[in-house]
Amino acid sequence: MSDVIKLLPAHIANQIAAGEVVQRPASVVKELIENSIDAGATHINLVAKDGGKTLVQVIDNGSGMTDVDARMSFERHATSKIAKADDLFALSTKGFRGEALASIAAIAHVTLKTKTHDAELGTVIVNEGSKIVSQEADMCKNGTSIAVKNLFFNVPARRNFLGKNTTEYRKITDEFMRVALVHPDIEFTFHHNDDEIYNLPKGNIRQRIVQIFGKAFNERLVPVNEETDIVKISGFVTKPEFAKSKSDQSFFFVNNRYFKDRYLNHAITNAYEDLIPSGKYPPYFLYFDVPAQSIDVNVHPTKTDIKFEENQAIYAFLRSAIKQALGQFNVAPTLDFELEQSFITPALKAGETVKIPEIKVNPDFNPFNTSKPSSTKAPGVSGNKGAHGFSKIQPDKNVWENFYDDAKEEEAPEKEKNDVQHNEVTLSSSLDNEDGDEVSIEKKKPVQINDKYILSSLKNGFILIDQFRAHCRILFDELMMADHSNEVQKLLFPETILAEKQDVPIWKEILEDLNDLGFDLEIENCEIVINGQPVQAKEENPVQLLTQIFEAYKLTEQDEELDVKSRLAISTASGLAIKGGKALTVAEMEHIIDALFASSSPQISPHGKKIIETFSMDEIFKRFN
Ligand code: ADP
Ligand code: MG
Repeated sequence: MSDVIKLLPAHIANQIAAGEVVQRPASVVKELIENSIDAGATHINLVAKDGGKTLVQVIDNGSGMTDVDARMSFERHATSKIAKADDLFALSTKGFRGEALASIAAIAHVTLKTKTHDAELGTVIVNEGSKIVSQEADMCKNGTSIAVKNLFFNVPARRNFLGKNTTEYRKITDEFMRVALVHPDIEFTFHHNDDEIYNLPKGNIRQRIVQIFGKAFNERLVPVNEETDIVKISGFVTKPEFAKSKSDQSFFFVNNRYFKDRYLNHAITNAYEDLIPSGKYPPYFLYFDVPAQSIDVNVHPTKTDIKFEENQAIYAFLRSAIKQALGQFNVAPTLDFELEQSFITPALKAGETVKIPEIKVNPDFNPFNTSKPSSTKAPGVSGNKGAHGFSKIQPDKNVWENFYDDAKEEEAPEKEKNDVQHNEVTLSSSLDNEDGDEVSIEKKKPVQINDKYILSSLKNGFILIDQFRAHCRILFDELMMADHSNEVQKLLFPETILAEKQDVPIWKEILEDLNDLGFDLEIENCEIVINGQPVQAKEENPVQLLTQIFEAYKLTEQDEELDVKSRLAISTASGLAIKGGKALTVAEMEHIIDALFASSSPQISPHGKKIIETFSMDEIFKRFN
């Protein structure tokens, strides 16, 4: 048999390596910025287009490269950062493998412009898919600019694998923040398409956090500073009342590198025990310094997990450091659920029924009093369908925030449930006086139970309707109706929301859908101008409403099952719907019942939860046996 083993040509080897180093535009951002930092830059500009798919460019004022180095930098295993194996253990740079530029150039169109500070002229190199297309001397600024265009142009499968532009954009933002948070001494800017997302002047760590996450953070931060032989921990945690529903502001760094560690994260949760409810995450920015030998330097460039030799000791130390920091700052456990919670209806598990909390009985209700029919309409032929049927039902701001508490009541113990059902039977005993009417909804006045459920008599029993879920369904249907052009409620004075810079692309993405739902919004730079809102919102504060919808939208952004408009409609409907805890008049309850039965799906709320529970006379009779 003849010899079969060959060395792979360089461009193929590079493409294979690229598969590991470059997963998405954000990986390019990370590699390029790290190179700029290694080159001693004090000013770094990041520019991206279309989530980095079209362009990622990093411009720095670092050392620059000579023309020979510029050419060499695209070779695999070409690095200026280590020369011998020992150097690996005294690394002070972020890169050392000499793989990044070679890998990036293998799968993109790269233009490198670079000039050292003492050179007259710089060098411009164009490299397309590992092929040097041109190299020329040119007038360049001191430092280096690397533009990476058309990522994965020659690997369509990988290009197709990329997420939506906004998804890739957010990953870039994450990567950018991770570097910017450890180098407050470096000035950074970040532009995406035509928007300036960040402009971060030099400062200290606290200032950098505030520049990135907003002024409000300044008073939320609690400093942490502890040192032992094995580790020095510095940085900030946040006061418990500012815990969030998302853990996207949790940052660990070791020796100036971002890393993730569930074990150490648990140490933090543990330190906050009893101070924050489960499902809430305190933002933190913690910087570990350990001797370089005590962590594995050979971590893969794209990996963010790091192995500490002294993991358990660090856990215990971290936990006590945070407890101490929180204690020192006398952080009281004042709980403040964020408003966004009111959008998240707790999931009903399969097979679980809505359990009824403690019952309130209308003292004026007399079961033997044959009440007059208050509505002669059959379900499904409501004349009140549409926004105007709800003129009297206004969302009550006090209960808006209490929704979560209500949800907890749903978990009433089994015994209580049984007691409750006995009570209901008494309430419904007037059903005996039936006259054989064919309409399935009994024409008796509905009764509200615990300000949360509407009880409506049926010919053969009764139903309980969850008032919040029912109203969500009704509003959702209305909002999703095709044309809102005539139904926008114009504001007398337009209001504005000042969007966080990094959120602007997301606002842009959902603007059209929000306008479809009955808002009238425009974006000017970072300002969201609200000219109008859906008629259903009535007197609702437009800024508050829209902010809550936006926050809720961000929480469900990963949810690919529903389209954007439906997700926004669900948040809007949840925000506007009357909540459990709101007392309703008989007329309001009748409106809800009529509109619910005229809706697209009276049984299931847009969140996929049960709206109606039916109790048959048979069941009721059985209970008396
Ligand atoms: P590594 O960073 O692991 O050394 P890279 O492929 O990222 O490998 O870069 C190769 C070499 O190119 C670096 O070692 C450095 O000498 C040079 N280089 C890359 N980017 C820059 C930059 N922005 N400024 C100066 N030199 C750079
Ligand atoms: Mg590098």
